[in-house]
Order: sequence, then structure tokens, then C-alpha cells
Amino acid sequence: MTGEISQLGRGLRTGLDADPRYSSIVPPIYPGTNFAFAELGDQPRYEYSRSGNPTRDLLAEAIVTLEGGVGGVITSSGLSALTAVFTAMVPYGGRIIAPHDCYGGTWRLLNHLSERGSFTVDYVDQTDADALAVALRSPADLLLIETPSNPLLRVVDLESTVAAARDAGVLTLADNTFCSPVRQRPIEYGCEMVVHSTTKFINGHSDVVGGAIVATTMEATEQLTHWANVLGLTGGAFDAWLALRGLRTLDARVRVHDANTAELLPALVTHPAVDRVHYPGLPDHPGHQIAARQQSSFGSMVSFELAGGEDAVRAFCHGLRIFDLAESLGGVESLVAHPASMTHAAMTPEAQLAAGITPALLRLSVGIEPAGDLLADLTDGLERAAAVT
Ligand SMILES: *Cc1c(COP(=O)(O)O)cnc(C)c1O
Repeated sequence: MTGEISQLGRGLRTGLDADPRYSSIVPPIYPGTNFAFAELGDQPRYEYSRSGNPTRDLLAEAIVTLEGGVGGVITSSGLSALTAVFTAMVPYGGRIIAPHDCYGGTWRLLNHLSERGSFTVDYVDQTDADALAVALRSPADLLLIETPSNPLLRVVDLESTVAAARDAGVLTLADNTFCSPVRQRPIEYGCEMVVHSTTKFINGHSDVVGGAIVATTMEATEQLTHWANVLGLTGGAFDAWLALRGLRTLDARVRVHDANTAELLPALVTHPAVDRVHYPGLPDHPGHQIAARQQSSFGSMVSFELAGGEDAVRAFCHGLRIFDLAESLGGVESLVAHPASMTHAAMTPEAQLAAGITPALLRLSVGIEPAGDLLADLTDGLERAAAVT
């Protein structure tokens, strides 16, 4: 269809060229906390910024468009997005099925809420269709999917997983933080809801903590909007404005993230200091075929295990010039994290082991710096690791 702007183009351009007052290209920010009623008894669209804010709504519209949803809510963090979904969609005493290797903060949230009786939670390896079928045999309210998973990049087949949940009458929620909507759109595979930590790829500049929920029905949108307001989980206007600014370059950033990752992989795969590389783009990765089908690219998150264990990890990290030792991911800066002691430290050692997180594991978030600089930094680190092995 000529003349139509693509879904991607519409999403990335949300709110541009719409300023009625000064024709500003980019939309103005509305940081105000409150909005005037024209008359007594009036029902203005915006009243108070916890319950609704124009800048936040614009960010929601952009992410909803990119994901192909119906409505959305912008929250103060990825975890507040999950909190809103758990509260709105899971009745008190209900049951959630979650990935056995989900994001550490999600694992802690689920555990703390289940320990105080809000719901029960079962952790399942969703790459194992039989284990998932067993879990779905008992009544459940929500299936949380994270693909690729953090930090081991396991890939869950969205189509068959969502179909199994639907047959069992269970709602599906995909945490699409790792891919962002430019690499994967779970709603196209039937997912009812998507959450994001906009802290990561969507904002992309490591200067906002935020979250988003995308729903596929008006009813769910209303329920989620209601609970986000009731619980006070909605995000601030400045954060939404910054995240919208970051989102405009999402597609361009992701292309460089992915190209840089492709430049680094051969060094990781061939270096003797490296025991194993976890990356869905590798042909021998167990989820390679599924990722090739449901993702438009394999992403810029890579994890690997060093042959020399923790000593090698220490040697690798000490002396890095570009890769910063830090949590988080998806920003323009390249990062390395040690999941066992950092991102996944909230998990018990037993849970870490069950999830396959060893002390020798490192996770890279490949940034958009010059690829040659990244390769040199990585290779030098691997040489240091090899020297202590
Ligand atoms: C970071 C992250 C979260 C939590 O988001 P916050 O913005 O830190 O609250 C949830 N899921 C995944 C996959 C993440 O990477």
C-alpha cells in the first residue's frame, strides 16, 4: 500500500508534528501535576498526573503501536509494570507460572508476594514442553514468558507456548525487555500482554528507570490503568519524555547493537579461555531455529562461561577499558555483568544452580561504540582470563 507509513515508522514517530501552538516538531512535555476543570461537574481528560498525563500517554501510544497492542500503561519501572499486571490479572490466592530462569528482580517480586499469600508461583523450564504441559494441568491465572531469557538466552517458542496456555485458559504475559518490539512482537504470536523495562532498550541511554504494559483488549487496558493508579505505580512525565526521545532511535540503535555483536562473536567462540557461549544466533544454540523464526535478529545480549572459573572472571573484568562492569542492559554503552554476584544475587545459590547460573558466567550487553574498540577490549580481557587458567 503506497502512501501508508509502516507500523515501525508510526511507532517511532508517535507525537511528532502535532503541536497546535507553535508547530514544534517534537511534542512538548507536560510536567504539571494537575489540570483544570472547565466547569463544576466537568470530566476533563486529564485531572491529576498519577491517574493520567499527556506525555506519559504519548510514550504509551508509541510502545503500543510498536508492539501491535490496543492500549498501554507507563509505569515507574519494569517491576512496577509487573506488579500492576500481577495485581490486576491474578486474583488473591491465584496461581502464576513463571520461567525458572526469569530476571532476578522478577523472581524476588514473585517470591515475596507469594510468601505473603498474594498468589502461588511455580517456576518451570518453558523450553521443556512436557514440563510446561504438567504445570498447565493445574488451574493457573497467568503464564509469564521471558524470551530470550536472562542471562542464559534460552529461547521459548512463543507460538506453541501461548497456544498451550490458551488451551488451558491461562493468560499470557511476555516480558519483551531483551528484544524490544523492533526484534520481536509477542502479540503477533497470541500473547495477551507484554511488559517492558523501558530502562533497557526502549530508553536506551541508561538515564531513566521505567516500565510499560501493553494490553490487547480495552477491558484489560482499563483494568491495568485502574490498578496502576490505585497502587500509585505510574511513571513521571520527565521520564516518559526522555524515554520517548530515546525510543525514536530504537531501530537505528538496535541495528548497530546487532552488527557489533556479530563482530565480537567469532572471538568469543574461538578463544580457548571461553568454555561456552550462549547466544541464539549460534547454529548450535538449542533455540536457534525458534529464535530465527520469531525474532527479526538475534540481539546484542551474549553470555559466556570462562574455563578458568571465578579467577578468570576477575582477571577478565580487571582492566577493561570500554566494557563497564555494571548491571542493566540495552543502553548505548557496552556493559559486562557477573550474574551470580550482581543481577541475580537475589536468587538463592540453589535457585541460581537450577537456572544454570555458575560463578564462571559473564553477560555482555554490547553497545554501539566502534566495533574495533570493543573487539580489542574483549580480546584483551580474554587474554587476561587465559593467563590465569
Ligand atoms: C531490568 C528488567 C526488569 C525490571 O525492570 P526495572 O525497570 O529494573 O524495574 C524486568 N525484566 C527484565 C527482563 C529486565 O531486564
